[in-house]
Amino acid sequence: MKCSSCGFENEGEAKFCGSCGAVLAAPPRPPAPPGPQIVPDGFNLGIILGSLLVPLLGIILGAMYINDPNPEKKKAGKRWLLTGAGVIVAYCVLGFFCGLMGNLQ
Ligand SMILES: [Zn+2]
Repeated sequence: MKCSSCGFENEGEAKFCGSCGAVLAAPPRPPAPPGPQIVPDGFNLGIILGSLLVPLLGIILGAMYINDPNPEKKKAGKRWLLTGAGVIVAYCVLGFFCGLMGNLQ
């Protein structure tokens, strides 16, 4: 392999120039490391289930309470509904951005 730096003809397998020491060929790239595994899959599943169950429960409770003649319960039901919807929206936004980040890597 001819050195691109000084033109010295080196042996085929040489990685560095025998004359000037320049790198002849880039060393083989190590396989790309897998993306940072922040959380194990089981934990991820727990988050998905939790973040789906909590708002679902909130919406169910809210739907039950919001029809209650008691104004206090009605108020609580509204809050539950809002919380449930808010968590779902937040989860969707988070999931969207997480997916976006995952695709960028
Ligand atoms: Zn050289």
